Amino acid sequence: MNTQGEKSLWSATAEPLAPIAALRDSIRAQVAVIGAGYTGLSAALHLGEASRDVVVLDAMDVGEGASGRNGGQVIPGLKYDPQTLEDMYGGGLGAKLVATVGAGPDLVFELIRRHGIACEAVRNGWLQLAASKSALGPIGTRVRQWQARGAAVESLSQAEAERLTGTQRYYGGLIDRRGGTVQPLAYVRGLATAAQRAGVRLFTHSAATHLERRGGEWLIRTRDGSVTSKQVVFATNAYSDRFVEPLHRTVVAVPSLQVATAPLPPQLRRSILPQGQAVSDTWRLLRYFRMDAQGRLIMGSRGVFGDVPPARAASLHYRAVREIYPQLAGIAFDYTWAGLVAMTPDHLPHLHEVAPGIVAGLGYNGRGVAMATVMGTLLARRLLGEAAGDLGFPVTPMRPMPLHGFSRFGVRVAIQYLRALDGLARFAARIGRAKRTI
Ligand SMILES: Cc1cc2nc3c(=O)[nH]c(=O)nc-3n(C[C@H](O)[C@H](O)[C@H](O)COP(=O)(O)OP(=O)(O)OC[C@H]3O[C@@H](n4cnc5c(N)ncnc54)[C@H](O)[C@@H]3O)c2cc1C
Repeated sequence: MNTQGEKSLWSATAEPLAPIAALRDSIRAQVAVIGAGYTGLSAALHLGEASRDVVVLDAMDVGEGASGRNGGQVIPGLKYDPQTLEDMYGGGLGAKLVATVGAGPDLVFELIRRHGIACEAVRNGWLQLAASKSALGPIGTRVRQWQARGAAVESLSQAEAERLTGTQRYYGGLIDRRGGTVQPLAYVRGLATAAQRAGVRLFTHSAATHLERRGGEWLIRTRDGSVTSKQVVFATNAYSDRFVEPLHRTVVAVPSLQVATAPLPPQLRRSILPQGQAVSDTWRLLRYFRMDAQGRLIMGSRGVFGDVPPARAASLHYRAVREIYPQLAGIAFDYTWAGLVAMTPDHLPHLHEVAPGIVAGLGYNGRGVAMATVMGTLLARRLLGEAAGDLGFPVTPMRPMPLHGFSRFGVRVAIQYLRALDGLARFAARIGRAKRTI
């Protein structure tokens, strides 16, 4: 998914990787990883560190999928509250799952430290802000549940939220001090370099096009070469194609788009997100925003399908910036770029055992910076022989969606519907504010 002439802030500011060649030979490895994003590279790094001979293939460049295009918000946990997860999976697995996903940011920031990855990492917390008064109740529940499990999560009053963000648009919310931000493309490139140092062989512009079973091994063909391995990792997430059929029908790829302003003048920079937290709000079509290291405000929300000129594709984002930060009216926007988010019907990420020796991890529902990194370690542990029941994460059967071919249409309809609901809620909030000032 692209906007015509998109210009990514992350591509413009990340250090380039040393050139990586395409696969042009027939080679062997113990493990072949398909996909060089966080999932695939985290798996490859951990397998390489365990002395496995690993090859990674990507159809594009390292991080050219969602991993190099996202908001760089390192968010702990999943969409569900801890108690809900424990109720879903029972006390044993549920509690382990909560601990695993809650520790996602620890893993990300530890990898960054251990491998010296220069990716503008800041760990000052993640804010979830209430766009309506009614969102404060569920946020309060989330805070209490995480606190009961020892996590550094606190409620924010409206005044505290305003102090941390520089906007009066929210009713309060929470700060989760486990979270933070990274330059996402620099992070994924850093994982690639760390994996190479651990002996992993990377090949880009090498789409896997064919897979077959041959005498207890898997043969994967690319246009100009092939890999034979006993074990395979599918790490293609929202960019999955028919190569991983029917895995690609277990997720719906939803476009998300971001814009970045020009660096803000010092006075505005001091008042907007002065401590550098990342923010997501509670609109149905949520907005997520943060600053970068040069003082640009980055605003993300839903994107559009197809080739659309940036100014049209980003009109919603320009409006969101003006609404949340009226003081930025007239600011120039230097960058617009987009990517695909893998959504699952149950809003949970999934680890599947696709066939003998093949594992897959995907479906992070917009929370993959931490979760995909964690998933990579889980996939690696499974391939290294750990029992599925010991992973602390459910291994589930694949459930391809019927009528998946119509998912684009379904996403469009759902977006229009949610947008209408958000519009009504915003209108009601404006009336409420007007009444209070009369
Ligand atoms: C705009 C946007 C904003 C987001 N913001 C955030 C955020 O702020 N915080 C957060 O936690 N998450 C966010 N996410 C989600 C997060 O980026 C993803 O969950 C995460 O990057 C997924 O990583 P991955 O490695 O599984 O997939 P990807 O990074 O998408 O990698 C998949 C790779 O597979 C390759 N591939 C596909 N098919 C083949 C094939 N046949 N052969 C070889 N290679 C193949 C692709 O080329 C691609 O490089 C965002 C996503 C988007 C798009």
